[in-house]
Amino acid sequence: MTAPLPDSKQKYDLNFARWVYENVNGGDKLGLCMQCGACSGSCPIGVQMDYGPRKLFMMIRAGMKEEVLSANTQYNCTSCYRCVVRCPRGVPVTYILQDLALKSAELGYAPKTTENVNFAKSFWWSAKTFGRTDERLVTALYYMSFGLKEGYSKAMDNLKIALGFIKKGRMHIGMPHMVKDRKQLKAILAKAREIEKRQ
Ligand code: SF4
Ligand code: SF4
Repeated sequence: MTAPLPDSKQKYDLNFARWVYENVNGGDKLGLCMQCGACSGSCPIGVQMDYGPRKLFMMIRAGMKEEVLSANTQYNCTSCYRCVVRCPRGVPVTYILQDLALKSAELGYAPKTTENVNFAKSFWWSAKTFGRTDERLVTALYYMSFGLKEGYSKAMDNLKIALGFIKKGRMHIGMPHMVKDRKQLKAILAKAREIEKRQ
């Protein structure tokens, strides 16, 4: 198949790669990328991304600022580090995506959908309440953020999977697990907020 010709009307910001290099954590390593695609090929979330990391990195080099900053790629990355482990050139893919998400949001390119925000809120609620992630409660809270009807429907769609997990002992039933020292958890969270304010 012949690759489509570049769109001559497309505006490219040729300073964008330099901006990423200087402002995004790990961006200075982008020059090492040899476009092998090992990162995108091993990413479990790749199908949920507008562009896989390999393509996104090429777009950065090409100066496609608008497309890169408004992509959902950086927000959908789960920081599993699979790409980092497999990258033959030692490109810190995860760090780049994490910081790109932060920088894109700061520049006003927040995700168009609220799904990621709602999931992050559910995750954060569990983390600060229990000091752990309770998959059941995080999932339930996230589903309910779509409204009662849709949340219920999503829960029913995944009920079989949840029961399978319980049967295999991969999901516990009963009260959520909690860190032993909740006082220390509160102190850690207070410190994190203080550092965040300073930044
Ligand atoms: S695995 Fe590394 S070198 Fe290969 S495309 Fe991804 S970032 Fe580039
Ligand atoms: S860290 Fe992000 S980009 Fe890398 S494999 Fe995992 S989800 Fe994909």
